[in-house]
Amino acid sequence: MRALWWQGDSKTLSYAENIEEPSVQKPDDVKIKVAFSGICGSDFHFMSNEMGKFSPKQDGVVLGHEFSGTVVEVGSNVGKFKVGDHVSIDPNACCGVCSWASRQTPHFCEKNEAIGVKRNGGWAEYCVVPDSSVYQLPPEVPLDAGALSEPYSCVLRGWKMMDKLPLKSSKVLIQGAGIIGSMFACLFYVNGYNNVTISEPHEGRRKTCSALGLGYDVIHPQELGLLMSGKDADSDGFDVIYDCTGNCKAVQTLESKCRPSMHRASSVWPATIELARRGAFISMFGCCPAGEKIEVEPFQIYWKELRITGSFINPFCFEEAVNLLKDLKGKELLNLDKLGVRVFDLKEYEEALKSLKTGTAAKVMFKLQ
Ligand SMILES: [Zn+2]
Ligand SMILES: [Zn+2]
Repeated sequence: MRALWWQGDSKTLSYAENIEEPSVQKPDDVKIKVAFSGICGSDFHFMSNEMGKFSPKQDGVVLGHEFSGTVVEVGSNVGKFKVGDHVSIDPNACCGVCSWASRQTPHFCEKNEAIGVKRNGGWAEYCVVPDSSVYQLPPEVPLDAGALSEPYSCVLRGWKMMDKLPLKSSKVLIQGAGIIGSMFACLFYVNGYNNVTISEPHEGRRKTCSALGLGYDVIHPQELGLLMSGKDADSDGFDVIYDCTGNCKAVQTLESKCRPSMHRASSVWPATIELARRGAFISMFGCCPAGEKIEVEPFQIYWKELRITGSFINPFCFEEAVNLLKDLKGKELLNLDKLGVRVFDLKEYEEALKSLKTGTAAKVMFKLQ
């Protein structure tokens, strides 16, 4: 079959047509003909060895952990799915017996053989996975949008880290208007928030995000400086900040910028922590490379009583994500063109990766059917 093969030890990604087609081996196996398969920001981190312990299988693996497809064969024990079903795949699973399982944090399981990371995934024509990883797509959700189930499940995890929903009048900042930033914007929109600002340096991505028609301000990060000019962030800053850039420069506290003298810093990325109002919630959602560091002024965390959280993958969120897709479809917020998704053939993987890296696409998917 056709697939993209990642060889970790030599750090090469290559297109091949002679990869062995997987077959149903176990009674709970489901064989899927992949339809759409996304490239995720973390795939770049995987291929650059920037994910610490969560690195892909070194001696060769098919990457791709965000995909949809059609069931073509099921094992003898599979009752939930039948040939022809349209499905999406949750790439993560806990071993079920470790201490993380009993602590209700299955996503920390060190035995997670993540599909498209530790075992063959969706940058291929076929993939075989256990039925526990498979989710039926509602008939309203087309296969292309179905490939957004996994990223939306991660976004929902990031959303739930707030614990308590902020007041509807809260000032929200989303840093980065790639697909993840746009997904958070849609989530705030469907939950009734109207004071949302999205900052993004790439003009094309700003245009795409504005064209979603949510009525939110989509601005260059430098404009954030102007917006906050002369204001005291303690009382006028943002209540909720989601960093969806995974770029240390975007989250770094550099110097005080929310003060009258802030024009000095107008050429650098604004500092997340300094933009926060007292009592703010900050999510470091985007994945910064392992080992990279930022400088933080602990006094600000104390003074503002900041709640700063991370968000790792998607525990208990997949089914909800699939249902959310149905809601978003009904609200016209699941049009892939409008979301800035570009679709490529597997063979065009170099161009596909490039267009995501340079920001000419907000998201890239391979089309396999
Ligand atoms: Zn992903
Ligand atoms: Zn485990």
